[in-house]
Amino acid sequence: MEFKLGGITAGPSASDTPERTKLLILGSGPAGLTAALYAARAGLEPLVLTGLEIGGQVALTHIVENYPGFPEGVGGQELVDRFKAQAERFGARLVMDTATEVNLQTRPFQVKTYGNTYEADALIIATGASPRKLGVPGEAEFTGRGVSYCATCDGWFFQDKDVIVVGGGDSALEEGLFLTRYARTVTVVHRRDQFRAGALMQKRARENPKMSFVMNTVVTEILGDEQVEKVRLRNVVTGEEYEKPIDGVFIFIGHIPNTGLFKDQLEVDDRGYLKVHDWVVTSIPGVFAAGEVADPVYRQVITSAGMGAAAAIRAGHYLDELAFEAQDAATAQTE
Ligand code: NAP
Repeated sequence: MEFKLGGITAGPSASDTPERTKLLILGSGPAGLTAALYAARAGLEPLVLTGLEIGGQVALTHIVENYPGFPEGVGGQELVDRFKAQAERFGARLVMDTATEVNLQTRPFQVKTYGNTYEADALIIATGASPRKLGVPGEAEFTGRGVSYCATCDGWFFQDKDVIVVGGGDSALEEGLFLTRYARTVTVVHRRDQFRAGALMQKRARENPKMSFVMNTVVTEILGDEQVEKVRLRNVVTGEEYEKPIDGVFIFIGHIPNTGLFKDQLEVDDRGYLKVHDWVVTSIPGVFAAGEVADPVYRQVITSAGMGAAAAIRAGHYLDELAFEAQDAATAQTE
């Protein structure tokens, strides 16, 4: 049985009969939703398994300033809502469910979720990437109790508190700047002496009086009782180790592509990203990839959306070929 949740069909819908679809899209970030829009407009009747977090990472972004068409910037959640509404307007069907197993060796492809099985002639993988973990003692224990990977979600809890942000890329500085709305101080802890973030982001961060910077330094442990109380830091140049009292630890050190489901079935590179040629074509005919799951380089909302559009166009060509082949085979049989 399916039920509706915020306009989205929510799964799982336990059923013995696999649900057949021409095109299945895994993931509902900018790549998945743009693929759904293009595929729906092309009459491919796409079905999107949204995963648990509709919109993916961008939905957790406070404001997106570099998506064309929004000169004043646009809220991440608003952008996702607009992507979704546009895809649904043309008939894309969104189901709130998560793939747990895929079989890409059979035709049609098989995708199992918690309660359902889907069969698809073509597949677009847009499962995105998840935050990379520091892997230090205390990180897992204090996640949700002072350790966070999302400033937009958790910043509010740190009103007038002292927090550190770990990382040196655009995310670390952008999220750190966002945290200054709430926190009393935001200390960026970065392992090198230079930031990876762009010049504009660095300038904004340096000009913010609440922000300070501890360079050449790594977090080696997160400590506390019920909540985070302090971090142990190590200067990688001098070797000096010391503790810093702190209320919150926000970690922004990049992402890991969500490709575990496809291991041993699709080619991945040495960092785990799906290998593609012609931007979106994977090693198995009929399986396409879009967005951060296959993009270790650009990782922007606009490039993920672009890959989603390209994947839908390629999937359309592939499905046309399948239909021609089926027609040819049927004609040959009647002759
Ligand atoms: P990123 O650019 O890969 O930066 C990751 C940062 O984390 C780097 O500074 C890296 O240090 C550090 N790091 C990695 N592993 C670490 C570890 N184990 N311990 C400590 N530090 C570690 O990732 P990102 O900041 O998430 O950005 C991803 C992409 O999105 C980038 O292309 C970025 O430009 C883009 N982005 C753009 C905007 C914007 O334009 N407004 C906002 C956010 C993100 P090293 O520098 O030493 O490698």
